This record gives sequence, C-alpha cells and structure tokens, in this order.
Amino acid sequence: MKSLLISVLILFVTGQMALAKNATCDFGAVKFLTDFPTARINGCEEKSGDYHLYISPETKPVNPSPWYGFKVISDKKRTINVYLNYTYAKHRYWPKVSRDGLRWSTLDARKITRYNEDRKVRLKLAVDDKPLWVSAQEIFNNQQYDLWSQHMAGKDFVDRRVLGKSVEGRPIYKLETTGNWQADKPANLLLVGRQHPPEVTGALALLPFVETILSDSRLARRFRDKFRIIIVPNLNPDGVFNGNWRMNANGRDLNRDWGPFTQPETRLMRTELDRFRDEKDGKLYLMLDFHSTYENLIYTQSTEDSPDSARFARDWYGAIKKRLPDIAFKHDPRHNTKLPTSKGYVHKTFGVPAITYEMGDESDRGEIRRLANVAAEEMMKILLGAFEE
Ligand SMILES: [Zn+2]
Repeated sequence: MKSLLISVLILFVTGQMALAKNATCDFGAVKFLTDFPTARINGCEEKSGDYHLYISPETKPVNPSPWYGFKVISDKKRTINVYLNYTYAKHRYWPKVSRDGLRWSTLDARKITRYNEDRKVRLKLAVDDKPLWVSAQEIFNNQQYDLWSQHMAGKDFVDRRVLGKSVEGRPIYKLETTGNWQADKPANLLLVGRQHPPEVTGALALLPFVETILSDSRLARRFRDKFRIIIVPNLNPDGVFNGNWRMNANGRDLNRDWGPFTQPETRLMRTELDRFRDEKDGKLYLMLDFHSTYENLIYTQSTEDSPDSARFARDWYGAIKKRLPDIAFKHDPRHNTKLPTSKGYVHKTFGVPAITYEMGDESDRGEIRRLANVAAEEMMKILLGAFEE
C-alpha cells in the first residue's frame, strides 16, 4: 500500500511515470476489486475509517476524461465514505452503480460531495457482502460489443469479420452488409466507434443507429439496396479493456492518428478506406464517427471546407431537429483543423461529409436512443434522395 502512495508522489514529482494500474485494495473488512475488464483504480489507502482511491491516466498529457471503475464488497452491511482523488483532471463522470455489472443507475446526488475544485469527490456508499459496482459510466466492454455484433451478423445480409488486431492482439471486428449490386458498385457508408474508451454514450448511440439501418423497415431495405454499410463499432478494444482515459495500448490518441497512421488500429482504417480511392470498390458517401462530450452535438464541415458537405450536414441536422425539437442537440460546423482526426482525414481524402457524432456524457439514455433512431432514418432519406436525383 505504501509503495502505491509513493508512486502517486513520484507521479506528482516527475509528472510522467505511469502508475501501476489496478491496485489491489484489500482492507480486510472492505475490499475494492478491479478484477474485471474496464476497471481502474491506480492506488488506495484507508485513513481513519474512510477509503481514498487514486485515479490517474495511462499517460500525460491527456484529455480530461478521468475514467474509474471498481467493485466494493464489505464483510457486513455498512455505509462507507469513498474519496475519489484525481491526480490529473477534475471529476467529470457522474458515478454509475450496479449490483450485477449489467443494470446501472446513477448514484443519488445527496451521496456525492465535491472538494478541491472537483479534484476530489466523496461518495457515500451503502455496501454489503455482495459486490457493488461503481463506474464512471455504465460498462460497455469488448465482450458486449462482440455479442452485439454476433447478433447483428445473424441477419443474412450482414457479414462479420475480424478486420485485424489491436496492439495487445485483441480482434477488431467489422460488420459489412452484402447485396446484389452486380455490375453497379454500391454506394458506401462508413460508421466508426469507440476510439476513446470512456465515451460510452457514443456507443449507446452507435448501436441503435446501426440497428435502425439494418432493420426490416421499408426505408432501411431501400437504403441497403443502394448502400453498403461498413461498421467498425469498437476501434480501441485495448483502451476499453484497460479502462484508459483516452489512448490505445501504446499511449496514442487514435483520433489524432488518421494521416500519420502510426498505430495498428488506425492503419486498419486506412486500408479499409483505400477500397474507395478512385471508387475502386464504389464511392464513399459519408463517414460518421461516434464519440461523447459534454453535450449532444455533431461536428461537421463548414461551408468554407465544402459547400456540398456543409449542405448535407445542415439538411440532416434540420430534419432531425424538426422531428425531435425537445431534445437538446447542436450543430457545430467546424472548419477542418490540421489535427489528424477521422473527420479531417476522410473529408480531405474523399471530399465527402465526415461527421463526428457526439453524445453528452450524462444525456438521458432514452433520448440518445431516440435521437439515434431518428438520425439514422433522416440520414437514409437524404442519402437516398441524393442518390436518386
Ligand atoms: Zn472522442
């Protein structure tokens, strides 16, 4: 235990040494466990009957998305104070709690107290001899993606294959629709997700978005007659497994690597996109990349980037807002920066709309789903319209 605290101190002094991830925090009567994928506690100590957990990033500098996750178990029923001490960022994610790791709720606001300008929060937790899961967001791990994509691949027009492997050798899956396109090459739509591990609400949008396009509705069937849909739902399985704040297993931000392509995960995407250079395998029409931030919004091309891409975004956004005026959702046409993001790379390389679809960290989960269903329908209508013009 002492050595972990020393590590925390060293981290402050050197500012760069990575902490041992997933400390063992066994205090006898109360234990904090990190024996599951996505867990993160970087250190812990007991001080006068309270429990202090230290939460640190995998590398620095890093975006302020301090992920944490643990199970706590007690020898008997009691209420404990658990302090989350952030070594590099302020508290961001409202704690989610669960008794089985599958069904989650948000921790009651009266049980959360903030200190030191949000660098420390105290959680009052009622614990007993069965595990209480506490996590920055409800867990959506690699196994859940795997089950979901297997389920989608149960449709006879969906193929699932391993696109390639991550740094730590985890499979990165791709779903792709098939059709009777024959001589005419199909139009193509590319959907990407989970470049950033804590961005679970992006995943909670990608799933229903895809399910709407792969559904049996007349619109979806018409859409799939013209469009092939390629989906890479989880590009950073190592980051997800390790409970990272941002990076892949090499400590690299994948959404700053579209262009340099120094990482195996992004290189898989480059190869995938190369199919559409010179329209070899048909024309790419649109790429959507699913993320999370503080609110629901889309980052799109601006008119100065490309009038056509900007118009698609404006029409799409307008159609969604018209159907769901009560759900907070913004459009931010943002001139492409020099940053090597998926949005910048795809737009620059193919001259097509490339959009970052961001859902708020704490947005209502039902609204995320409704927004995704409607966004998918309106996207299909606009793309079909453009195709049939
Ligand atoms: Zn992101």
